[in-house]
Amino acid sequence: MFCLEKKEIFQKPLEEIIEKLLPSQIDIDFHIECLKAQAVIARTNMIREYLKIDKSNSLHCSYRFYSQRELEEMWSEKYVENIGKIKKAVEETKGLVITMKGKPIMARFHDTCGGSTENSENVIKNEVNYLRKVLCLYCQNSPNLIEEKDFSIEDIEKALKVKFHLDNPYSKGEIKGFFEDIERDEENRVLSINVGGKVFSGKEIMEGLHLNSTRFYMTPLYIRFTSKGKGDGLGFCQYGGNELANRGYSFLEILKYYYTGVDVEKYSLPGIGNPLYGKTIMIDPGHGGKDSGYIGELGLKEKDIVLEVAKMLREEIEILGGEVYLTREVDEERFLSKRSEMANRIRPDFFISLHMNYFPNSNMKGCEIYCFRGDTESREMGNILLKNLEEVGLVNRGVKEGNFYLLKSIGVNTILVELGFLSNLEEEKCFSEKNFIKDLSRAITLGILEYFEY
Ligand SMILES: [Zn+2]
Ligand SMILES: [Zn+2]
Repeated sequence: MFCLEKKEIFQKPLEEIIEKLLPSQIDIDFHIECLKAQAVIARTNMIREYLKIDKSNSLHCSYRFYSQRELEEMWSEKYVENIGKIKKAVEETKGLVITMKGKPIMARFHDTCGGSTENSENVIKNEVNYLRKVLCLYCQNSPNLIEEKDFSIEDIEKALKVKFHLDNPYSKGEIKGFFEDIERDEENRVLSINVGGKVFSGKEIMEGLHLNSTRFYMTPLYIRFTSKGKGDGLGFCQYGGNELANRGYSFLEILKYYYTGVDVEKYSLPGIGNPLYGKTIMIDPGHGGKDSGYIGELGLKEKDIVLEVAKMLREEIEILGGEVYLTREVDEERFLSKRSEMANRIRPDFFISLHMNYFPNSNMKGCEIYCFRGDTESREMGNILLKNLEEVGLVNRGVKEGNFYLLKSIGVNTILVELGFLSNLEEEKCFSEKNFIKDLSRAITLGILEYFEY
């Protein structure tokens, strides 16, 4: 079990977080419509959590997350069979949140209400207009409908930190509802006693229960507590919801039954799970078509590598909510003037041109980034990207000033990245591996995120 830190919350897509959270909140064996209702609940609460974190600047999200292994242990043989349903429930409710007057509600839920849910003021002190009591005759088959628990007097004393005064046993010694109206003589022998509404003499009790004398008294040793339902009864009753789903109700109908007067609508916060929301990045894979760029000893072509990186980058950036344009999608020629014209028309927040380097001395390796003279923003972006790329093993050759056509002609922040050297066999090998391309793209994406965050 682990806690998500603020940074992770910002970086992980919301839907991925919900998918992780859901199997620890509800029985994964439940009907898909019920799981969907819980997915919307989890998303609603997560967005509230996010708003809280955002405001308080605290480092942790109060939700606990379970690892896959812990979840497999939790659900044992049910896991494999049902985990696909969890994914589906999240996907089919993507972005949906329960709201009241446009704001995400406090989506409380519990296991089994036992006949009716609760009014909020009885549980959390304040009156919440969507957490009202509703009748629920649907959780009658819940295994948690009735719970019986026996406590010894000692257990109760310990748990509640109280002391029962049973030290003068011969005084009255009644147990209301069981043994009442006890009359004793001056020697404490029982003369008469009312047991369950019927009056007995002390002698009758002594004989009936095979006691040694009529000088007896009673002490209760165990108390049985029977409780109906499970949980605080606020909001959504999961077993009730499951039964409604079995009867053909949709997750929307289920949610609206348990939460009074709410709406269920698409809701997206720019930040949550979409930390690059609102940012536009244009990626420019250099060369193309007849122009292969450099070609390595193993035959790897610059135009192909940079296109592969560009596409992977688009995937990674889009996961974080950013918008991505590529100057070319396929292996075809693109004049520099055309690339620059595209950039000036779309005006992205950043333009990143991708290339591979080449040098006669095959020992030369590493990544270098060019920006236009005096463009401090691009220099900062370059430094962050290089720092991140060091983590995937690329040598940091620094940010340099360049006088390239694209750097001069594009009116937005622009960098040109020479990812590595095709004249270096070791680097060429790296760039031929799919996993390396993925790690590299991720490193660049996180660098872009870092740049925009600080
Ligand atoms: Zn119920
Ligand atoms: Zn090039």
